[in-house]
Amino acid sequence: MPHRRKPYPRWTAAVVAALVSAAALVVGVDPPPAGAATGSAGHRQNVEYFPDPWSAPRQVTVTTDTAGTTAPHARTASPAAGAAPTVRALQQTGPVSGRLDLVVLGDGYTAAQQDDFTADAEDKLDQIFRIEPYRSYRGLFNIWLVDTPSPESGVSGDPTADVRRTTALGSYFFCDGLERLLCIDPDSVTRYAAAAPAADIVFVIANSAKYGGAGYSAVDLPPGTPFHGVATMSSDNDRSYLIGAHELGHSIGHLADEYQYAGYGPYPSADEPDAANLTLRRDPAAAKWHRWLGAQDPTGSAVGTYEGGGYYETGVYRPTETSLMRDLSSTDFNVVGREAMIAGFYADADALTSPLDTARPVASARNITVRLAPLTGLARLRLDWYVDGKRIPWAAGRMTVTPRELAGRRSAHRVTAVVSDRTGAVRDPAVRQAASNSLTWTVR
Ligand SMILES: [Zn+2]
Repeated sequence: MPHRRKPYPRWTAAVVAALVSAAALVVGVDPPPAGAATGSAGHRQNVEYFPDPWSAPRQVTVTTDTAGTTAPHARTASPAAGAAPTVRALQQTGPVSGRLDLVVLGDGYTAAQQDDFTADAEDKLDQIFRIEPYRSYRGLFNIWLVDTPSPESGVSGDPTADVRRTTALGSYFFCDGLERLLCIDPDSVTRYAAAAPAADIVFVIANSAKYGGAGYSAVDLPPGTPFHGVATMSSDNDRSYLIGAHELGHSIGHLADEYQYAGYGPYPSADEPDAANLTLRRDPAAAKWHRWLGAQDPTGSAVGTYEGGGYYETGVYRPTETSLMRDLSSTDFNVVGREAMIAGFYADADALTSPLDTARPVASARNITVRLAPLTGLARLRLDWYVDGKRIPWAAGRMTVTPRELAGRRSAHRVTAVVSDRTGAVRDPAVRQAASNSLTWTVR
C-alpha cells in the first residue's frame, strides 16, 4: 500500500538530474530539490523534511549514497558476522497475520545503552499512541524492538555538520546540507528490520537531543522493500514524535500532505487525488468527505473545503484549516484523517482472530474460540455468530461456542464469526464494510 504522491513521477536518477538542472523553471510542478546539486553518481531519493517542530514539513530530494562525497555522511557499521540481532516484543496483541507490525530500531546506542534505547522507544510510542485514532486502535499493533548496537554513542551531524560517528544504521543530521533532516542508510535499516517476525512500518530513533527526523514512503525506498515506510526521529526532543505520527498518516492512512508551498500556484492535474483528505471539488457537498460537513473538528475548525494542500495553493481543497498532516503545531488528525487511518488499520489488521485453524473441519461438539483485539475509546466492536448464514442472536458477544449449541435442533454445516466496528469515527459505508472481518469453519 504505497503512499501515492500523485503529482510526482518516480524519481529515477535521470529524472532527478533533469529536474535539478531545470529547478528554476519547474516551480509549480515538482517539489524543490534541496541542497546543492552536484551531478554526482549518488542515489537520490525523495524524503519528507521537518525543519521546525512547530511548522509545516516539506518534500526534498537527497543524495543517499553513503559512499558519496556530497554530504557529511555517517559511517555505517557492519553487523557482527553471524550474530542475529536481538528482537523483543514491546507489545504483541495477536498473530502477525492479523496485526500491523511496527518495528522500532535505535541508532547511535552502544551495546551498553540498549536499555536507554528501550526507554526512549517506549517514550516515543506512548506519545504517538496518545493521538487518536492511534490511541483507540493500539490493540491492532504488534510492536517489535530490534537491538542495533552501535560502535559509537550518538549520531553524525550532532551537534554540527562536521561530526561523524560510526553507527549501526548510519543516521546523520545535515542530510544534503539540511540541518534537521535525519537520514539513514536504507539497506542497513532493511537488514535489521528483517530480524523482526514481520515489518509493516519501521521507526528509527536516533540517540540525540537535536530536533530532527525524516519520512521515507514506500515509493521512495529501494525496490523490493517489504514495509510501507520509514520514519526517523531524534530520541530526546519532546516534539520529534510528531514526525512518526505524521508519517504513519501517509503509510497507513494513505493521507496526502495538506500543506502548500508559496508560489506553487494551481494544482496541476484535473484528476481527483486518491487521498481521502484532498479534493478538487470546491463545493463542500461534493467533497469526498461530505458526510463530515460542518462537524466540529478536534483540530479546531469545522469540516468544509479549505483551499490549498498537496503542495499547491489553489484549485485543491483540504478538510480543515489545519491538522497534523498540514502543520506540526497541530497535534491531531482531522476527522477525515482519522477515518482514513482507521480504514488503513483494518486494511492490514483484523480485530477478529482465532487460534483454531479455519482450514480444518471441526466436530460439532468442538469448542470454537475467537479473540478480539483489545481496542478502546473510539472503537465499538460487535461480535456475531452465524450458522449456515443465519445469525444466532443469543450468541452475540460469545467468545467460545460449539457448532452444536449454535445449531440447536438443526444440523450445522458452516459456522461463521463476524466482527464489525460500529465506531462513530467512520461514516463512509465502504470503510464501515472494510472495518469488519469474519472467520468461517466447516463442520464435519
Ligand atoms: Zn507528509
